Amino acid sequence: MTKIFKLLIIGAGPSGYTAAIYASRLNLKPIIITGINDGGQIINSNNIENWPGSYKKINGYKLMENMKKQALKFNTKIINDEIIKINFKKKPFKIFGKLNIYLSKSIIIATGCKPKMLGLNIEKKLYGKNISTCTNCDGFFYKNKIVAVVGGGNHAAEECLILCKFTKKIFLIHRNNKLKIDNILYKKIKKKIKKKKIVFLKNFIIKNIKKIKNLILIKKKKKKLFFLKTLLLKI
Ligand SMILES: Cc1cc2nc3c(=O)[nH]c(=O)nc-3n(C[C@H](O)[C@H](O)[C@H](O)COP(=O)(O)OP(=O)(O)OC[C@H]3O[C@@H](n4cnc5c(N)ncnc54)[C@H](O)[C@@H]3O)c2cc1C
Repeated sequence: MTKIFKLLIIGAGPSGYTAAIYASRLNLKPIIITGINDGGQIINSNNIENWPGSYKKINGYKLMENMKKQALKFNTKIINDEIIKINFKKKPFKIFGKLNIYLSKSIIIATGCKPKMLGLNIEKKLYGKNISTCTNCDGFFYKNKIVAVVGGGNHAAEECLILCKFTKKIFLIHRNNKLKIDNILYKKIKKKIKKKKIVFLKNFIIKNIKKIKNLILIKKKKKKLFFLKTLLLKI
């Protein structure tokens, strides 16, 4: 007979592990289903500076390793599976994973979010080649290359600062005229703009992308603009 859990948590990012730590301390004996990304998006972050209590440098991977150890310490069970369907019609809920079926009296969904794309037809074709959403995953390929980062928030700014360390030049493309970023990041970005390492293109909506040989051509409206190696989406 399939075991009935008190609490099943879907997602193993900061939200999932936080829920697990609290729930396990309440003796709910939670299980976490990790999905394909144990640790969540934050494992891609080089430096977490806004985590209360972490006044020393910590990267996302290490932070999530710590959270995992903390959850395990309080007897959270961690299962590597991906949930594809849930039947909420009757209790216990029936949760269908790719590998197993689970029964649970309650569920916390902590599945985070997916990168947003520009919505251009060519994106799918270029994704993983000239279009990326993750510097840590693909950054190695942009060494000494010209790269554009699309976005105007903290993620875009953080990625620009990482890319500054090894790329030739970065265009930061934003559809509005002002970046919506923390003050600390703003100061760092401003310095890089002054040094001409970053070129800030404001009020810029990408309407078209063309692949020519190994480079891509970015177009604003119908005007040709510039060639570059990679477009990093952080919108
Ligand atoms: C480059 C980068 C740098 C960042 N830097 C910082 C920072 O310095 N400070 C900060 O506070 N935040 C930062 N963030 C944001 C932070 O990563 C997110 O806010 C945080 O990860 C959200 O946590 P979450 O648990 O809600 O979701 P996620 O981290 O997205 O985790 C989602 C989890 O759900 C799982 N999942 C998804 N679908 C399924 C399914 N069908 N079945 C089972 N599991 C599933 C995934 O495998 C994953 O484990 C950064 C993000 C990025 C990308």
